[in-house]
Amino acid sequence: MSWDYWRLLTIVFIAGFIGLLFGQMMTFMFLAAFLYALWLQDSWNKLLKWVKKPKKNPSPTAEGAIDDVCREIERVRQQNNSRKKKLAGYLKRFQSATAALPDAVVVLGAFGEVDWANDSAKTLLGVRWPRDSHVRVNNLIRDPDFQQLISDSTAIGQTIVVHSPVNSEVQLEIKIVSYMGSGRMLLARDMTQTVKLQKMRRDFVANVSHELRTPLTVLRGYFEMFDDKTPADQWQNALPAMRQQSERMSDMLHELLTLSRLETGEKALQVVPVDMGATLQEIIADATQLAQYDNHEIKLNLDSEHWLLADLDELRSAISNLVFNAVKYTPAGCRVTITWAVDQLEGHVEVADMGDGIAEHHLERLTERFYRVDSGRSQGDGGTGLGLAIVKHVLQRHDAILKINSELGKGTRFACHFPIQSVVRKPQALNLASL
Ligand code: ADP
Repeated sequence: MSWDYWRLLTIVFIAGFIGLLFGQMMTFMFLAAFLYALWLQDSWNKLLKWVKKPKKNPSPTAEGAIDDVCREIERVRQQNNSRKKKLAGYLKRFQSATAALPDAVVVLGAFGEVDWANDSAKTLLGVRWPRDSHVRVNNLIRDPDFQQLISDSTAIGQTIVVHSPVNSEVQLEIKIVSYMGSGRMLLARDMTQTVKLQKMRRDFVANVSHELRTPLTVLRGYFEMFDDKTPADQWQNALPAMRQQSERMSDMLHELLTLSRLETGEKALQVVPVDMGATLQEIIADATQLAQYDNHEIKLNLDSEHWLLADLDELRSAISNLVFNAVKYTPAGCRVTITWAVDQLEGHVEVADMGDGIAEHHLERLTERFYRVDSGRSQGDGGTGLGLAIVKHVLQRHDAILKINSELGKGTRFACHFPIQSVVRKPQALNLASL
């Protein structure tokens, strides 16, 4: 039995006893019970006020009435408070985790209105929370494909690729997923890089097939024309052309493999101090052996005091490409100047020719794979269109950059700029030896 119950009995009993002394036992007992009921009612009123506004009103427990009920209410209230704090903590952690996601997340209400969105939703979709809270998402993203996706209840889990309403250059993969039964959530991911890579892969396959088709068509033509009755002299005449086409295919495969190795970083850089004078002399000697070398004048300006820290094979292949191009794409007798110079900021290798030059609109695309200024002429000269792409990758691996300047009718200058940290003084022992 509760403490209140015993208290009532004690009060009524004491009042009855006092009443007995005055010969009014029943009246005293009734009066005591009545006053107790009034006091209790007052306590209940206070309890109600306290339950409604606990901060403003004092707890009736202090008055000793209904304290069991008050204590129980207090305990449940504290339990709820700590549960609420815990849940608020979980919610906060969940929100900060989703807010940090690079993908956009928008929680949708029953009518497609924004209930919550993370930070990336603002940058990718232009959906700002809480500003756009309760705005229908189809009023914020107007793309027709998206409108169809959001209105189609069977399209849950399907993905579409659309341009971002914030930046039309960004491509987004959008999907609506369901959660907790009827809840819907919009997820969007930046696919620009992936779409670009897919396009590059498609273009690459198309380019390689196109490039291989020409030599293969020539070879097939000969094989279809000739048989074992064809006289030997006809075979003899055709052989140089056949050899040239097969060399062309093999050059292309070799350059493609080089490019792929450079891109994947499969081969680690083997950096050594490179004697630029000796390397450039070797390249010049190779250039004079080219079929297109015709009375070209190759001049070398050399800072013989400085060497370059680089991967010798890669550096030689990059500079050879530039020097061979200067011979291949300039007329007979043209002057080609090769320079190795060092200033306070960098070391640079320049290959400048006084040929016909390249029109400005080609310059930006010149280092793309298979890009040629004059396709017919370049292929005739055995060009694969991969040389400058290789140069660009080699330089990138050496933290260097390629700058191209050209003027029609005046000539072209390719300059490779290496960071000053890659430049070293010629080893001392060699300095002494050369005295
Ligand atoms: P390719 O194997 O065809 O030579 P590159 O990537 O080395 O391929 O060069 C791309 C194109 O740039 C060439 O096809 C040529 O049209 C042009 N080019 C390169 N160097 C020169 C140059 N020194 N003068 C004029 N055109 C050049």
